[in-house]
Amino acid sequence: MYEVLDSLSDDALVLDLGSGSGSFRAEDYRFTTILVDSKLDHLPAGRNAVQACGHVLPFRARSFDAVILSHVLEHEENPKRMLQEAGRVLKRSGAAYVAVPDARTFSDRLYRKLFRNRGGHLSLFISEAGLRTMIAWYLGLPHKATRTLYSSFAYLNRNNFQDATKRIHILLPPLPEALVATLTFAVNKVDNWLGTRASVYGWALYFGEIKTEVLEQANPNVCVRCGKAELVSRQPVRPGLRGRILFPLYRCSQCGARNVHRSRTPRDA
Ligand SMILES: [Zn+2]
Repeated sequence: MYEVLDSLSDDALVLDLGSGSGSFRAEDYRFTTILVDSKLDHLPAGRNAVQACGHVLPFRARSFDAVILSHVLEHEENPKRMLQEAGRVLKRSGAAYVAVPDARTFSDRLYRKLFRNRGGHLSLFISEAGLRTMIAWYLGLPHKATRTLYSSFAYLNRNNFQDATKRIHILLPPLPEALVATLTFAVNKVDNWLGTRASVYGWALYFGEIKTEVLEQANPNVCVRCGKAELVSRQPVRPGLRGRILFPLYRCSQCGARNVHRSRTPRDA
C-alpha cells in the first residue's frame, strides 16, 4: 500500500474505501484522504469520514488519484459492483491497492472457522490470476504487480480484543500475544522445512501508475498485533542473550509490539 501512497503528490485525493477506522495513518501524508465505510460506528470522527454504501459512492466520476481497498472485497457480497463504482470515481491516470485473503490458506480457513458468521467473509477468492483480471477490468487500470502476503494470526491476539464486546465473535478465548508470536514463528518454520503455505495470508495487488518501485518479493515479517509488514534486517535485530540465541526479535515500527524475526519465505511463495 505504501508504494501507492508514497508516489502521490501533496494535492492528490485518496479514497480509503471500506476504511473502518483507517487503512493507514492519513495524518502522515499531506494529500487528502477520504474515508468511506458503510457502518458509521466504524468511522473515526472527522471531516473526511463519509458513511456510504460502496456500491453508490457520493462522488463525481474521475475525482480520485488513488483507491485503497485493504481487506475489504472478501466482506462484500457483490465485490464486482464495488469495484465498478471505485473504477468510476478513479482517474484514468490513477492507482489502486487491493489486499485480499486467499481462501485456500490455513490462515483464512482457521479465521472462518473461529469467528461467527465466518468473520463476515462473504466472497472467497482462490485465484490470483482471476482476481487480477477482474480488478483490472472493473477499475480500468493495468495490473502492475502482486505480492504474496503473510499472516501473523493477529486475529488470535488477546491484545486485539480490548473491547470485551468483540470477544463474543470468536468461538475460543483469544491467546496471549507472546504465544501467538511463537505459533506464527513455528508455522513459518514448518513451511520452510516442508514447502507448505500455512503461513500465507493472501495477496496485495497493485494497479495503475505507481512511481515508487513495488517489490514483489514476499515479506514474512508481519506484526503479531497490528499486521504491519516491514522489511527488517537479517542481522541482530535485538541485542541481548535471548534475542540472539532463542528467537531474534524486532519491534514493530507502527505499534511497538515485539515480533519474532523470520528471515526466509516458504519455498513456494
Ligand atoms: Zn505492529
